[in-house]
Amino acid sequence: MTKVNSISREIEFSAAHVLLGHDKCGRMHGHNYRGRVTIEGPMAKTGMVYDYNLISEIVKGFDHVVILPNEPASMKINIEFASAPQIEWGDYRFPASDVIVIPFKHTTAENIAKCLAQHIVGIGIENGYRVVRIVIELWENERSSVVVEAKEGD
Ligand SMILES: [Zn+2]
Repeated sequence: MTKVNSISREIEFSAAHVLLGHDKCGRMHGHNYRGRVTIEGPMAKTGMVYDYNLISEIVKGFDHVVILPNEPASMKINIEFASAPQIEWGDYRFPASDVIVIPFKHTTAENIAKCLAQHIVGIGIENGYRVVRIVIELWENERSSVVVEAKEGD
């Protein structure tokens, strides 16, 4: 029987988002997100359950960017009329390099954490790590956090 071990890593990143239609969060604003990623899985050939550096690499993609929802009705990617790729979303326009688009309708902490989990599992598999279970607790501020969990095969 394979012994299941776990690792965990604290993460932090700063990002802007907007929750359109929300009373308070409907205007563009930012958070200093903090969190903990816990991964359970068997020991890989590397002698690690998971490589911390892969987590850092994924989190870096969420740092100092604007997080936008994948909402085709209100967002378009415009690469034809600018010297550098731009993303137009509602009344906003950003250089594409400053934006990450997540595959959800709302850029809530819940969905940001789910997206982080998907990326961490995906890059792990590419690098020979089997993630049996991943839990991410993500704090949006000192009072509010979410917890997402995914198991292998979810
Ligand atoms: Zn917010």
